[in-house]
Amino acid sequence: MVLEERVRAITQKISKAKALVHREDAVRFIGVTKYVDTKKARELVEVGVKDLAENRTDLFLEKYHALSDLEVTWHLIGTLQRRKVKDVINLIDYFHALDSLKLAEEINKRAEKEILTFVQVNVSGEASKHGISAEELLDFIEQLKKFESIKVVGLMTLAPIEATEPQLRNYFSKLRKCRDTVQRLGLVHAPCTELSMGMSRDYQIAVEEGATYVRIGSELFR
Ligand SMILES: *Cc1c(COP(=O)(O)O)cnc(C)c1O
Repeated sequence: MVLEERVRAITQKISKAKALVHREDAVRFIGVTKYVDTKKARELVEVGVKDLAENRTDLFLEKYHALSDLEVTWHLIGTLQRRKVKDVINLIDYFHALDSLKLAEEINKRAEKEILTFVQVNVSGEASKHGISAEELLDFIEQLKKFESIKVVGLMTLAPIEATEPQLRNYFSKLRKCRDTVQRLGLVHAPCTELSMGMSRDYQIAVEEGATYVRIGSELFR
């Protein structure tokens, strides 16, 4: 299938998942370009996917510069090492993996604008996963208040690869409940309206459970 058809198929599946649960709000489809070169990433933008994501700073920088003539909203979705923060933080539009106060401190120190972030939450409790536990989340968000350049726009999670559908629904709905709890606090630094969840294997379930951003790589490129 050519790229344009794949994009259309994914967009249709997102619409179907929304219709199934009577959602009328927007779901943003982020194209994850970590598997492909700059040329392929350009093609993706040209067929209408304007939100792109990378999980490594070097590959992000390469594509960011190569595609600077296009209107792209850039998402950084992977773990960010503190020493790399200064290289990328003012170039990206959204950071999806805030999971420590030390990282928040470094981001705040280097920020030359408001930095829109998702706090990564480990809802499955899987030991290998990054992220704040659901139990620690409110305290963590509270502590981010002192970093004046950081705005928490939402929560992000990664589901374990081996999760079954009922487990996925449980993880995604747990993240949604966390989001609702934070949102109800009405914090200026953490409006927390968004949910970044769902990848190629599970985005339809994520959309049914309330995802507002889905991150899709392999279904586009493999
Ligand atoms: C690679 C990656 C994705 C996309 O995963 P696919 O299964 O290829 O769709 C989404 N989120 C994160 C954090 C990733 O690293």
